[in-house]
Amino acid sequence: MRFKIIITLSVSFLLFLLFSTEIQATDYFVKSKADYKKIYKKLSAGDNVVLANGTWQDFEIVFMGEGTQDKPITLSAETKGKVFLTGSSNLRLAGEYLVVSGLVFKDGYSPTAEVISFRRNKSHLANHSRVTEVVIDNYSNPDKFDQDKWVVMYGKHNRFDHSYLAGKRNAGVTMAVRLNTEDSQENYHRIDHNYFGPRPILGSNGGETLRIGTSHYSLSNSFTTIENNYFDRCDGEVEIISNKSGQNKIINNVFYESRGTLTLRHGNGNLVEGNVFFGNGKDHTGGIRVINADQTIRHNYMEGLTGYRFGSGFTVMNGVPNSPINRYHQVKNANISNNSLFNVDHIQLAAGSDAERSAAPIDSLFSANLISHDKQIDGFTTFDDVRGITFKDNVLADGTKSSIGAGFINKSFELERADNGLLYPKDGKLAEYGIKRDIKVIQKSQTGPDWYPKAEPTVAFDSGAEIRVTPQEDILFNTIKTAKSGDVIYLEPGEYTVRKTLSLDKVLTFKGQSGLVKLTFLRKTLFNIEDKGSLRIDGLIIDAKDAPDSAGNVLIANTRLPTIYNYRLEILNTSVQNLNVNHSFHVFDSGYRAFADHIVIKNSVFNNITGDILRLNKELDDLGIYNAEYVTLRNNKFIDVQGTLINLYRGGTDESTFGPHFVMLNNELNNVGNGKRNKSKVVATIHGAQVTNIENNSFEQTPDLIINHTVGEPQTKVLANHFAEATKLHIVEMNVDGPHTAKIQGNNNLTVVDPKQ
Ligand code: CA
Repeated sequence: MRFKIIITLSVSFLLFLLFSTEIQATDYFVKSKADYKKIYKKLSAGDNVVLANGTWQDFEIVFMGEGTQDKPITLSAETKGKVFLTGSSNLRLAGEYLVVSGLVFKDGYSPTAEVISFRRNKSHLANHSRVTEVVIDNYSNPDKFDQDKWVVMYGKHNRFDHSYLAGKRNAGVTMAVRLNTEDSQENYHRIDHNYFGPRPILGSNGGETLRIGTSHYSLSNSFTTIENNYFDRCDGEVEIISNKSGQNKIINNVFYESRGTLTLRHGNGNLVEGNVFFGNGKDHTGGIRVINADQTIRHNYMEGLTGYRFGSGFTVMNGVPNSPINRYHQVKNANISNNSLFNVDHIQLAAGSDAERSAAPIDSLFSANLISHDKQIDGFTTFDDVRGITFKDNVLADGTKSSIGAGFINKSFELERADNGLLYPKDGKLAEYGIKRDIKVIQKSQTGPDWYPKAEPTVAFDSGAEIRVTPQEDILFNTIKTAKSGDVIYLEPGEYTVRKTLSLDKVLTFKGQSGLVKLTFLRKTLFNIEDKGSLRIDGLIIDAKDAPDSAGNVLIANTRLPTIYNYRLEILNTSVQNLNVNHSFHVFDSGYRAFADHIVIKNSVFNNITGDILRLNKELDDLGIYNAEYVTLRNNKFIDVQGTLINLYRGGTDESTFGPHFVMLNNELNNVGNGKRNKSKVVATIHGAQVTNIENNSFEQTPDLIINHTVGEPQTKVLANHFAEATKLHIVEMNVDGPHTAKIQGNNNLTVVDPKQ
């Protein structure tokens, strides 16, 4: 027989007591932090704690107790998704059989190094516990390089599922499994049906989405299962999943347009099966990278992946002989079978081969894989002896020559998309090659809590309304206040005098009919890009003749406050002139630690400028924390610019980023970089970029160029540029022996200066 008694302890604190014939369990309806404090130390098996709907500011929850398999202790929301933990909030679980659900962390960040932690402290861990249907949304520390983690699993037999983790903008892996004590090893955790939503490019190391283990404990087994998760544009850095322990199963996950790879970085005996990678041709989309012993990689599907080097669609690494625990262990006994690779641009074997990484893969099998590419390439590059890999019964599309030779047969087949969204050969006779037919592909909608919408991470330029304005006092300043992200402010023809700096914390376009709209301004800066702001200028004439007569004015700047959101800057079809009221008047100056997803300058003219065009060199500490991912200059004219065209700097030697990228095509430069205050004495400095393409530009009256290769295998092309006078390109491999690796062809009047050549 069961009955309930309701006891009112205080107005704000109701205690529901539930009695049964055998076990007494209590339901607590908690309305305040003070109420929670009264009960959290006395929770026992079968108790249920319900947090009232509403916003809980600065609530550091300790949820602990000894539940049992039949009588767990639960912590839940009055209504799922209606309990918001904001400000300095976090959650620690400790004990046995605890279940947490329905909570939303947003509008703040954890004051500690973890938001959700499966331990209270080093000696009090959670076991047999579950966190399900929780949300951590944009809960990023505004100090971008103050590292923290959102979810950290300790203990054993825990589960994290159906949760939503998106928008981590500060350094530190989004979710980690720790094996740092014996009580957390051989843990049999389960991580499933989670939505790992968009994680923007961090612009340095430390942007992994999921890490299992660390190098230090990587020879320990974890027995963690990661299945049916959806990784949506997890672009933080080169590793999406960094597996660093043994005996894990990574199965049936989907990786959608995510830059980087699932990396078997450390640990042996892992199973990678049934994962689906859709790159859709996006830059740096990768698949699986294999390192260590006894790895099984089967029935994985890879389509439209463009990544190369360690970010390739498929990579098998070379190891270091007798490797220290934190370097690269040799690949031994890898079984790579029945994977389908369609339009995968790069499959790299014995990758990373160098004087240190000299141990090629051994005792490994590559069999029954199915490979086809629209360009009739097989995508393979081998960097060392791959006789330690047995190639057997792999199928290549007809007309594609095998770079490997034996072990590949050409077959003619047509692909068709099955109901599960994957491509299979129409011909049933090929069923034994590539992935199995009955693979179930997890849908985005099946991951995360179904009550929380999956938001898009950025607002596109020109995606909102058009707001038409005419020249009036403060019209732009006032319009910005009411505009919404994505709107276009369309300037009717005329001259606009801007009295106040235009600060943007939204995504806005300022557009005019080319040649008919002129902006002058009376402040030292015209546009200031604040956090959450992005700027597109299209079709304007910007004349700085009325700017204050002071040194070091800047046309467009980032806020001098710390920023956490990546921004975009575009200058299109625009004329920028007369930045010359005093010396060192720059066009754009990056903020310290500010980071641009892209900067594009196209079809524009810059004339009569005493400072620099692009200053993207705020990294002074060589930590590899740079200022822009993609910088593109296309079809522009730069005339009488005393400063430098660009100073793009990415320091440090770690290899965790894909950028920066610099593209400069079809520009005309005339008298650029010759001012006495241009201390670099060069027209452009590109330091540490991973991709550089300087092509088909004309340089007249310009000093030398500098390109410094620092790390990785940067891809640099300097092609078909015309230099009116004899000019030097100084290029050097700073951290690698030997001459530069750039492709420099078809330039006239250009001499390459390489101290190592
Ligand atoms: Ca990393």
